[in-house]
Amino acid sequence: MKKKVLIIGGGLSGILTGFLLKQQGFVVKIIEANNRLGGRIYTKNVFNTKVEMGATWLWEYNSELINLCKELQIELYPQNMKGHALFEAMNAHSPQKFELPKNQEISYRISNGTSNIIDKIANKFSNEEILLNEKVTEVIETNVGITVITNKTKYIGDYLITTIPPSLLVNTVKFIPSLPVDLISIAKNTHTWMKDSIKFAVVFKKPFWEDQKLSGVGFSHVGPFTELYDHSNNENTSFALMGFINSNLYNLDKKEREEKIIKQLIKFFGDEVQNYLSYEEEVWKLAPFTNFVDDSYVTPHQNNGHTLYQRRYFNNKLIIAGTETASSFGGYMEGAVIRAKEVASIIKKEV
Ligand SMILES: Cc1cc2nc3c(=O)[nH]c(=O)nc-3n(C[C@H](O)[C@H](O)[C@H](O)COP(=O)(O)OP(=O)(O)OC[C@H]3O[C@@H](n4cnc5c(N)ncnc54)[C@H](O)[C@@H]3O)c2cc1C
Repeated sequence: MKKKVLIIGGGLSGILTGFLLKQQGFVVKIIEANNRLGGRIYTKNVFNTKVEMGATWLWEYNSELINLCKELQIELYPQNMKGHALFEAMNAHSPQKFELPKNQEISYRISNGTSNIIDKIANKFSNEEILLNEKVTEVIETNVGITVITNKTKYIGDYLITTIPPSLLVNTVKFIPSLPVDLISIAKNTHTWMKDSIKFAVVFKKPFWEDQKLSGVGFSHVGPFTELYDHSNNENTSFALMGFINSNLYNLDKKEREEKIIKQLIKFFGDEVQNYLSYEEEVWKLAPFTNFVDDSYVTPHQNNGHTLYQRRYFNNKLIIAGTETASSFGGYMEGAVIRAKEVASIIKKEV
């Protein structure tokens, strides 16, 4: 009898774990609450321009992710940093040009957008194996396995792997019997990487900042954006700037943030900014399938890879996974790949 594995979450951890287990002959079902796969990987396509609303960069030491990209025949290219950068220190002054240090660590981008990784893995599944718009609300241990209740129906599996960020998991999913109190406490205090960030991208017809010998890199102590990068593609056929907005501005409406960002970009690069094609943004703090909003402060990366995540629960049938539970690089895409491999090998060995 083939063993059935249910996986909650169709982000990088969930989809890669599913694929590795499917390769080993397991019957896999991935249950995703959102209307898209990818989770914190989210590439939008606007005016034929791929803009990253979530994960964007990887680094030379992300060897597992680099190998995955190789296997999927996905190319990487260095983040464009050519030209001067700008720094806005005070509201009253124009941003000042400066030269970026030469010995900076190189960040790489993913050809065709980070979602390319998700799409290529998702193509290996059938429609029955990936379920969208199904929010898991309850997990029940039974004599024969484990039952998962969603907003639509229920599923029974021999194993359950959850990849929901731990803090969101214990605050939004009911477990019967209850999970151990020490695990609940650690999960509530596990930081979900980038949970408070607001990312934006502005798409243009031309990279006019290059004419001014600017790299598109900007930093600001004034805001609303605090960091800015060139976001054009490697082929130089689509052009954008992308950055991070001060996370305290999450409660403004999109139009207000857009107006403030465009005004600030004009201060950086001049009136050509006004001809922008599109403004895109994602407020991750308010993303219901990433963040559980509460008042507690959790230090970034706190409790990532905690030993309690290395144990199994519900008579070894339940595994808590996702990047925040990885033994290294927790919070990053590299952590998601590492954890997917760890979990797939645990289940494979047991069976
Ligand atoms: C703005 C931003 C920028 C980032 N930049 C980088 C970067 O440059 N480099 C880098 O390495 N990493 C970056 N990251 C982190 C990276 O995106 C994550 O490490 C990685 O994508 C996590 O994958 P995951 O599958 O573990 O979790 P997630 O992507 O969070 O996946 C969890 C999945 O579970 C689903 N889910 C939640 N609740 C339920 C439920 N009740 N029922 C069913 N499904 C549910 C969610 O919809 C989601 O699809 C960034 C993240 C953000 C938000």
